[in-house]
Amino acid sequence: MVEVRGVRKSFGGVEVLHGIDLSVAAGEVTVILGPSGSGKSTLLRAINHLERPDAGLVRVDGALMGLRRVGGRLHELRERAVLRQRARIGFVFQNFHLFPHLTAWENVAEAPLGALRHPRARARREAAELLERVGLGDRLDAYPRQLSGGQQQRVAIARALALSPGVLLFDEPTSALDPELVGEVLTVIRDLARGGTTMLVVTHEMGFAREIADTVVFMDQGRIVEQGPPEAVLDRPRHPRTRAFLAQVR
Ligand code: ATP
Ligand code: MG
Repeated sequence: MVEVRGVRKSFGGVEVLHGIDLSVAAGEVTVILGPSGSGKSTLLRAINHLERPDAGLVRVDGALMGLRRVGGRLHELRERAVLRQRARIGFVFQNFHLFPHLTAWENVAEAPLGALRHPRARARREAAELLERVGLGDRLDAYPRQLSGGQQQRVAIARALALSPGVLLFDEPTSALDPELVGEVLTVIRDLARGGTTMLVVTHEMGFAREIADTVVFMDQGRIVEQGPPEAVLDRPRHPRTRAFLAQVR
């Protein structure tokens, strides 16, 4: 599960997250909506400490991100320890972020080979299973440039699953894709959601949001303006800014 309490973040003296509180229960899917610049990516990045919050706490499956308690006081963890915590959280980016010089299976196996020091044969076998799950069991040895955008994003999802994370974060996973490739990626994410993976998903795909979300969160200008079940937020939004946003994206 994920708990965000009072998270603030500034860049160059300008605060872009103004104290975010958010909980995602184990096995639940929360979809985050909001206009460009509202802080959606910064919030996801603050959850896995790609950005360290200036204030507030993030707890993922019981672990306080970036902090450890010593004699009742909280101390910042070093980057290496934060890396270990981050490995428990899968992150899928808009632009795939695959290593171009590694094949599909090597991309998926990168963390198991590097962080866990799995032997190559085992790493390849486990990567093959994950690629099979995203429908790419026949493309283990393809390089990213030999794959479509949709296939690259499915490799990226398999890679995010490689360390058996407790939580998956998706930041607009389909917005860099040609329209005809969006469906195959959404299908994979939908299967993960139905399988009970805890997820936070930033997306502009409204039909998809409605289908997979247990909770929809609407952000604007660094704040959560409204949240609730999809039927409530999407069909009967209470806040004028939610209404204005939904009128635009529909
Ligand atoms: P989009 O829908 O366009 O992806 P978003 O909701 O994800 O937008 P963020 O990327 O979180 O928005 O950005 C929130 C604000 O923080 C914006 O004003 C952005 O310019 C600013 N910002 C984000 N990252 C940085 C950074 N590394 N340095 C400076 N400003 C940043
Ligand atoms: Mg963003």
